[in-house]
Amino acid sequence: MEIPDPFEEFVANKYANFKGMLYDFFAREWTGVCLSCGVDLYAPSKKEFIKNRLFHTRNECLGGY
Ligand SMILES: [Zn+2]
Repeated sequence: MEIPDPFEEFVANKYANFKGMLYDFFAREWTGVCLSCGVDLYAPSKKEFIKNRLFHTRNECLGGY
């Protein structure tokens, strides 16, 4: 069993559930789900994630509309 690094744990906690996004420290990716349809979304940065989710809700599931 791996002993969690305190810094990695801190980073994970810091970003946990930030506006529906979660930073996966190990994969170095932002992950989250679409708030409308629940599909998994991920991106290499927070900015990209927001952009991707916006694109998804506007063009793919239409944000529940
Ligand atoms: Zn969706």
